[in-house]
Amino acid sequence: KITLFWFRRDLRLEDNMGLYYAFENEENVLPLFIFDREILDKLEDKTDARVQFIHEQIRHLHQSLQKYDSSILVRHGKPPEVFKSLLSEYEVKNVYTNRDYEPYARARDQEVEGLLKEKKIDFFDFKDQVIYEKDEITTEKGDFYKVFTPYSKVWLKKFKASKIETVRLDGRKTGFLQTKPLPLPTLKDIGFQESDIEIPPMDINKPLIRKYDKTRNFPYLEGTSRLGIHLRFGTISIRKLALEAAQLNDTYLNELIWREFYMMILYHNPPVVDKAFKTQYDRIPWQNNEKEFDRWCEGKTGFPLVDAGMRELNQTGYMHNRVRMVTASFLTKHLLIDWRWGEAYFAKKLLDYELSSNNGGWQWAAGTGTDAQPYFRIFNPESQLEKFDKEKKYVKRWVPEFGTEDYPKPMVDHKTARERALKVYKEAVGN
Ligand code: FAD
Repeated sequence: KITLFWFRRDLRLEDNMGLYYAFENEENVLPLFIFDREILDKLEDKTDARVQFIHEQIRHLHQSLQKYDSSILVRHGKPPEVFKSLLSEYEVKNVYTNRDYEPYARARDQEVEGLLKEKKIDFFDFKDQVIYEKDEITTEKGDFYKVFTPYSKVWLKKFKASKIETVRLDGRKTGFLQTKPLPLPTLKDIGFQESDIEIPPMDINKPLIRKYDKTRNFPYLEGTSRLGIHLRFGTISIRKLALEAAQLNDTYLNELIWREFYMMILYHNPPVVDKAFKTQYDRIPWQNNEKEFDRWCEGKTGFPLVDAGMRELNQTGYMHNRVRMVTASFLTKHLLIDWRWGEAYFAKKLLDYELSSNNGGWQWAAGTGTDAQPYFRIFNPESQLEKFDKEKKYVKRWVPEFGTEDYPKPMVDHKTARERALKVYKEAVGN
């Protein structure tokens, strides 16, 4: 009999909790990865760099497991169907995995667990992608937090008071099923092609993180870690990173807490996926002008910081956090376009796309989210430019025609747009 360890967003061998426990508790562990058609078939861009990234990581795992005289079983399909067919091919004792908190993932796991149960096969899941999950950080009454600052205080206090453990497989061969390398589908086999977008390396750049609080707000600097995609797919361990961060820079650690805060919010409020966290904000009559939306997507609004950000996103799959805030605020407040449109566009383009953080970031910018930030604080894209890219280094990098006649005039007047937003928001939700 074998134990399956099902990889999802934890694509590494070391400090992988579910894998470690499978390895410790069981024999004949066979790692499994499913290229999930439920997700992949919905991606319009068949050169999506994220799929290529995942494929590459699976290839690395395939290679690394050869050192253990083992391999990884790779399938392409919908997980419940894949499991049904696996159960007819293998004698499965149990299935180990790491927990995933997104609504789709929870429903998927419940379905798989149900069909395993019918065959008396156990499904064990572990906390791996966060330091604190679900109900671990609550108010004294046991409620989940709705505001970041008190959540982060409790998080930090708990983190400082506990010993965070990391785990290692130690190169022992006995845990894994001994097998010849199993076949690995190519990218083409799963319906995708190579992309020319570059993925930032998995590197904890200590000197950079040490001065993160001073550099992180300036988009022309390489002042942030670019680890988003690695946190998303688990090619880095959050425990390892948080332990480093605690030594290096408190501001950086605080950003990792934001990540967990939004994951917790999504876990307790799955409707935020397509509804305002503060539900009265769903009354806002968005203008949703498609031509204006297209200009925003293309980076042709005539507001240099907005345009630079959108072009950086389109060309590289990345946008600096400061500029994410400015572009999102511009779309929702200056153009009165539904935050869900912007969120969906970012979801298509961002290499580090994470449902919880993207949703949280968009709802924050639109003023519909958890934070106490009132809607009447509207970013002025021009003063943001003066503050964070005074010499226009970032703008010139992404908008080569900036300053020439070819560069478009501002598509709206800041003052007029601001007043319109205030009026529309106020009429919809009051003060
Ligand atoms: P660093 O600044 O080096 O931070 C390290 C890590 O901390 C990040 O990789 C990320 O995991 C986490 N982090 C940092 N800032 C935040 C934050 N504000 N909220 C949650 N986690 C944070 N982040 C995503 O990971 N995925 C998204 O899809 C995403 N969409 C966003 C959309 C909008 C409108 C806004 C305003 C922010 C969004 N963010 C998102 C948060 C933030 O912009 C990115 O995490 C960050 O820019 C990624 O770059 P980095 O890896 O260099 O981050």
